[in-house]
Amino acid sequence: MSNRTFTMIKPDAVKAGNIGNILQMMNAAGFKIVAMKYTKISLEQAGKFYEVHKERPFYGELTEFMSSGPIVAAILEKENAVADFRKLIGATNPAQAEEGTIRKLYATSVGENAVHGSDSDENAKIEGDFFFSGLERF
Ligand code: GDP
Repeated sequence: MSNRTFTMIKPDAVKAGNIGNILQMMNAAGFKIVAMKYTKISLEQAGKFYEVHKERPFYGELTEFMSSGPIVAAILEKENAVADFRKLIGATNPAQAEEGTIRKLYATSVGENAVHGSDSDENAKIEGDFFFSGLERF
């Protein structure tokens, strides 16, 4: 089991001024920041990042949303990082997210749901490598 996961604070949460609140929740839950950047991805890059969802009906909406404004991308470290972080962010749809989760507090819809969290160790590595070089990890 790997001890790292990958996250993004999505354009909706950045626009709403929630970067600080969300980073605070990550730190308070015991996640250490290994790499972090404030950036904006193109529609093409969003398409590549979410390639696994290419056949899903929401692919166009998702890639347009994710390239619509700046995001914060980060690699986080903690024991059991992937599973524990999925618990901290809550269900994809904020209406189904548990109280106290990041999405319950800050997501507005199933699409604009404030944060991304990798769903497996394998994807955490692929997604972290998409955004960060070896020199950008500490
Ligand atoms: P996650 O692992 O909880 O992020 O959820 P998924 O892997 O199923 O979906 C990836 C992302 O696609 C979600 O976080 C949402 O931003 C978006 N998404 C999922 N379902 C829908 C949907 O029905 N409509 C829209 N517009 N976006 C969706």
